[in-house]
Amino acid sequence: MTKRTIRIENREVEIDDLTRGIKHSIDYFDCISQVCKTADIAKKFPSLNIILDSEHDNRAFNANGVQSAAFVDPREKNTIHIQIESIETLPPSAIKIQIAHTLTHELTHLWHEQISEYSKGMRVMNKLIELKNTWQRESGDIKGFIYNDEYFLRCVLTSFFTKLIIEGAADYTSYCQTGKISFDALNARVLHFAARQQAQEVLASLDAMLLSPNIDAKVVKERLHEFMTQTLTGQGIIGEHMIHTVLYMDKTLDFDAVLRMNYISFIKKYEECSRAAGWKPIVSVTSGLGMIDYAASIRRWLDYIGKLA
Ligand SMILES: [Zn+2]
Repeated sequence: MTKRTIRIENREVEIDDLTRGIKHSIDYFDCISQVCKTADIAKKFPSLNIILDSEHDNRAFNANGVQSAAFVDPREKNTIHIQIESIETLPPSAIKIQIAHTLTHELTHLWHEQISEYSKGMRVMNKLIELKNTWQRESGDIKGFIYNDEYFLRCVLTSFFTKLIIEGAADYTSYCQTGKISFDALNARVLHFAARQQAQEVLASLDAMLLSPNIDAKVVKERLHEFMTQTLTGQGIIGEHMIHTVLYMDKTLDFDAVLRMNYISFIKKYEECSRAAGWKPIVSVTSGLGMIDYAASIRRWLDYIGKLA
């Protein structure tokens, strides 16, 4: 185990390498220091703790059966865990780019958590769903729990919509830092196009999953829960486009102001900015204009579950 503390002006970054016996193709201390020195998002933290970890030693990389290359745990202050095994499968030049991407992505999550209540809200909702599942499993009866289909659907959809902004913000910062996002009309169109494709894929996966024959209401709810509460690649791409649209069209807002908005206000602002930009929104709350509309999804699924029950 090696630990190193670096000082950058009045900031302090501690890097702990907890990996043993795993190949290090690059100098991780140097690479991480460089990112912390240059990335704007890193400059927001007076102190940071970056932990190089191994999937083998830290089970949190496999939370909910989904493998991740890095994570932040809201219970730890300003701490990021990076998993080395998956990064080491890349060639050395790609490792440096990946570290920069991963770090700025996770730093945005840390920052988002600090300045807004987003993920707290999401955790509460996931907790509720978990509680309901336990109740159902142990009592075999769901009626005793104050719960209904509409409430369940609102929970899973809120989780999905919230993650659009959480993952979108993280990818947005990350791509801005690496110069992949510029602030012009062409880039706005490219991001809109990419988001539209992702939304089509999300909708197609949902249909394939839910509209299969011989399915019952319980299975529909389980599949919806599983699908909507995981983190999909598409969510980052859709969210990135939404944030870019808002910042590009509304010059009165900055990135932090966007992060501080609750998800309903943010999506409404995005709809307004999309209209101003002259395109159909990908996501909407109640207007029904978006490819994925909150109210229309609830209505459609309630109707479907009702018919199956
Ligand atoms: Zn993320």
